[in-house]
Amino acid sequence: MTAKIISGKEVAQQIREELRQEVAEMKEKHGVVPGLITILVGENPASVSYVTAKQKTSHDLNFYSVQDNQPEDISEEDLLKLIDKYNNDPKVHGILVQLPLPKHIDEKKVLNAIDPDKDVDGFHPVNVGRLMIGGGEAKYLPCTPAGIQELIVRAGYETEGAEVVVVGRSNIVGKPIANIMMQKAKGANSTVTVVHTRTRDMESHCKRADILIVAAGVPDLVKPEWIKPGACVIDVGVNRVGEKISEKTGRKIAILKGDVNFEAAKEIAGAITPVPGGVGPMTITMLMKNTVKAAKFANNIQ
Ligand code: NAP
Repeated sequence: MTAKIISGKEVAQQIREELRQEVAEMKEKHGVVPGLITILVGENPASVSYVTAKQKTSHDLNFYSVQDNQPEDISEEDLLKLIDKYNNDPKVHGILVQLPLPKHIDEKKVLNAIDPDKDVDGFHPVNVGRLMIGGGEAKYLPCTPAGIQELIVRAGYETEGAEVVVVGRSNIVGKPIANIMMQKAKGANSTVTVVHTRTRDMESHCKRADILIVAAGVPDLVKPEWIKPGACVIDVGVNRVGEKISEKTGRKIAILKGDVNFEAAKEIAGAITPVPGGVGPMTITMLMKNTVKAAKFANNIQ
């Protein structure tokens, strides 16, 4: 049987429609418009394209939305002052500093300077701690892991009691998604195993997974025979394996591959995310969701 393809594009679109309605209602009933600032230092092409996409989506959802471009040589002190300005601006509910930052700036210091209540990326240690504590403490879930959870739940997979295996233990994907899925909460309550480069016999762990989440950044790392028949496979990996000419634009574009061999895996899994078009489109959408949440918190809107 061929797996159900979990379209992140479709789910993201659905969530954006829900958000659009929420934003309209907030404006009408409370006069509140969610505000998002994206700070870009320098002109790294990948970063420019990420912040542009974030800005485009927030404009599309009728947020108050500003992209603040700063020169590559901005000092750490000036960047910290800028963050402080936005921390104190009541129109701004979410602050996002696009990473990576130039080498002369301490990224940790910058991320830690963002008011945790405006940290819509969910990377501030206070928000990481809140996620760990759980029980309603978590304010903002980091965007990619939050998107993964939404995809699993909206695909109709039962998470309670499920064996979830996470490949990878990074701070932005592996650790937080493991944390989210183990919480005593709806859409979680799973039994979680995390595997990484020091794991003995990764195959045996993956074979047990009802839900297999792969975030290693290694093309075709997970072999089709490691997948339990009927499992839900979430492939987070985005690997550039070459270039091709886009039929739409005639321009050169990257050929992307996930960490799982999609063609072979879809004959075994019950559901699987494609790359591209799976987890990717969810990340920006969850950032928007966090910004709406931040605006509600700031204005005591239930
Ligand atoms: P990362 O920081 O490089 O972490 C990779 C993790 O995978 C590490 O914990 C590493 O283990 C583990 N790993 C690497 N090779 C492995 C192997 N051969 N066997 C077992 N474990 C292995 O990467 P990341 O930031 O989490 O990103 C992972 C992938 O997801 C990348 O392809 C990235 O582009 C993609 N991604 C996509 C989105 C999205 O929105 N779609 C967002 C974020 C990331 P050790 O800890 O032992 O080194």
